[in-house]
Amino acid sequence: MATPVGHALAGLLLGSGFTLNRPLLGYGRDLVLFVLLATAADLDFVPGILLGNPSAFHQGVSHSLGLALLVGLGMGLWGRRYGRPWRWALVGATLYMSHVVIDFLTVDTKEPLGVMLWWPLSGERYQSPVSVFLNVRRESFCREVVMHDLVTLGRELLIFLPPAGLLLWLRARRRGRYNY
Ligand SMILES: [Zn+2]
Repeated sequence: MATPVGHALAGLLLGSGFTLNRPLLGYGRDLVLFVLLATAADLDFVPGILLGNPSAFHQGVSHSLGLALLVGLGMGLWGRRYGRPWRWALVGATLYMSHVVIDFLTVDTKEPLGVMLWWPLSGERYQSPVSVFLNVRRESFCREVVMHDLVTLGRELLIFLPPAGLLLWLRARRRGRYNY
């Protein structure tokens, strides 16, 4: 898995791109929504923690195209009251799916490897043969592990921060112009 920071930045990048001229809920509330959508898949740790095995459900059905489409459907239904529900559905499915794709492209060293990318079409787990993002290590707080996780975070910041910062800046400028 990548870090929550990487996932959140990807959400801010994609969400800002989709809503550059017209927000969903409003400028600030949209940013919270984008971060929630892009990080929500890792809530799959919660049932595992309750059962004493945090990884029991990690990167299973929660990390799949099927669940991204369900989230998109839910967002579309929510967005009906605001108009243009397809925009809501698109933002919901794409931002949720960004998390799945990033984890697919991330180094994975813990069994079971990979994500259930194509569920419900397939229950197989898939991991990209070429990794773009580094994994997060959580086994201890020794210097080696901390340094590894800092490099992981640094790579994500290098990839996502420049384009996300640019789109956030553009969105903030248009916020003034369109008065939203
Ligand atoms: Zn994840």
